[in-house]
Amino acid sequence: MRQQVRNLLCFLCVLFLIGSCSTVPITGRTQLSLVPPSSMLSMSLQQYDDFLKSHTLSTDTVSTAMVKNTGGRIQKAVERYFVEHGMRRELKNYAWEFNLIESKEVNAWCMPGGKVAVYTGILPVTKDENGLAVVMGHEIAHAVAGHGGERMSYLLAVQLGGLALAVAMTERPQASRNLWFAAFGLGAQVGLILPYSRIQEYEADRLGLVFMAMAGYEPRHAVTLWERMAAQKEGKKAPPVFLSTHPTDKARIEAIKRALPEAMRYYRKPS
Ligand SMILES: [Zn+2]
Repeated sequence: MRQQVRNLLCFLCVLFLIGSCSTVPITGRTQLSLVPPSSMLSMSLQQYDDFLKSHTLSTDTVSTAMVKNTGGRIQKAVERYFVEHGMRRELKNYAWEFNLIESKEVNAWCMPGGKVAVYTGILPVTKDENGLAVVMGHEIAHAVAGHGGERMSYLLAVQLGGLALAVAMTERPQASRNLWFAAFGLGAQVGLILPYSRIQEYEADRLGLVFMAMAGYEPRHAVTLWERMAAQKEGKKAPPVFLSTHPTDKARIEAIKRALPEAMRYYRKPS
């Protein structure tokens, strides 16, 4: 009898875990997913709006146009990739937006639904459109791979005792907003810096390379961009926010080099 109860409990646990997991598009990795994508999306639209209201858009028309143009090209690449792989529905409710924010902070991020922010502080590091495409491709890859939702799931489980996102937002609005910021790489303002996991970083690198290649940017530019990014750390007491959330080392840059041949198969020269 006791054995039967144990079996039943095991069965229920497995059922619960399966129900709480989803699969990362393209790499096929199983990830923890306690927050439904629809909740993530509506939360994202709200938080992105709030963010734009409390920050200043850059008045540099040339750089702003470059951010919007690069983002648009990568968006089309992602959409094509998802259609070609029978995953069109995953992007159904996306409302892509690419904005350049006036800020000294070296940072860039993408929230669910394709809501992208690039800070003017990162432009000296990205240098040109190729470098920008590396960063934007990488951030968009984090978003379409559901990494934010995965981080949010862990944070809700660990910090708020597994409260559902909607409940957390009503009962603990400030705490859940802070977790949201941390999940998407803008937690520095609330003192919550959470590095992306190694698995998520490698995944975003690999997908980002494919997307930038499909958008007509040579993926080899990723190697020099990440080397330039790593050099930012030298001689500074505190590394830039972007490096705190996207830890970079030799092994990672080597992994990017190894992923280049796969990405080059997707490369299309811009016409
Ligand atoms: Zn990253």
